[in-house]
Amino acid sequence: MSIPIPFAADAANLVSANVFALGTGPLILIDTGPKVPGALDYLESALREAGFGFGDIETILLTHGHVDHFGLVQDIRNAANKRIGCFLHPYDRLHASPESFESRLWDKGKEDFLLKAGTPPQEIQKTRSRFDFFRSIADPLEYFSTLKDGDVFTGEGYHLSVIHTPGHTPGSCCFFERNRRILFSGDVIIRHITPNPLVELKKDFLGIPGYRSLRAYVDSLHKIEALGPDYVFPGHGLPVEGLPGLIAMYRNHHRQRMDRILEVLEKKPGSIYEMLPQVFPKIPKGETFLAVSDLYAHLELLVEDGKAALLDPGPPEIYGAVHGPSNTAPELP
Ligand SMILES: [Zn+2]
Repeated sequence: MSIPIPFAADAANLVSANVFALGTGPLILIDTGPKVPGALDYLESALREAGFGFGDIETILLTHGHVDHFGLVQDIRNAANKRIGCFLHPYDRLHASPESFESRLWDKGKEDFLLKAGTPPQEIQKTRSRFDFFRSIADPLEYFSTLKDGDVFTGEGYHLSVIHTPGHTPGSCCFFERNRRILFSGDVIIRHITPNPLVELKKDFLGIPGYRSLRAYVDSLHKIEALGPDYVFPGHGLPVEGLPGLIAMYRNHHRQRMDRILEVLEKKPGSIYEMLPQVFPKIPKGETFLAVSDLYAHLELLVEDGKAALLDPGPPEIYGAVHGPSNTAPELP
């Protein structure tokens, strides 16, 4: 059963946050959608139509730690009036636990990252209000367990394997239903938008200092291709058709973005914020963090591959192109 929770108007490009309920009872849920007005009632009526109630939910699996995917867990537990096990990859635990929920959305680290990128203070304040909205659509998880690649969740009518697919977040996972060859892809594969390989500012704390979001994302695409699912149900929007073509399009998109960044740096060294208008034709209001993060993720690989370099640690950090015999963006593996 697929239940698209209608999303709030100011996140309209996401269309909906999809909740999946599997099994003939008890049920296992994949994601819960955000805590937006009416969401719980919407979910309840969808379950009722299929002959179930919140009390039938035994387990909740989370594709990753973003508020629009786990926001409703606590409300569901309260409505069911029982303990419902909830599973999340440990690399995304900071998003969901009560101790770090607030600081994970916004802290000095995020502010410093934007300052280093050359973002003007008034723009940082605008970006911050975007995170107030995120805080409003989720409750932190009172308790949860962790899952890892290869774990299996089975019950009447489903057999789900955990596929760790980092990149969008370090703890992003897909769930593969082996009998019907269905992949529940969270925010790793989305039909109508290119998923963002978000920068991970806590990678040292998480024990993954070498984590590069775009590199990890491209590796995860390989993993999904090797799996070759027949059907893909994403965390937002409609089911995916033509997965190989969509993945090729993602690769092309990232390749072109790296080329464009290099082209901009060839003309003139600059900060990430200075580069933004030349790389993104239009940045939606309040989405500066996403744009800076996206540019950083691409630049990170260009620097690692010796095509670009940090010329001045600033703040703001100034990057420039490295002139070599063949200065084109590196091949994505
Ligand atoms: Zn997400």
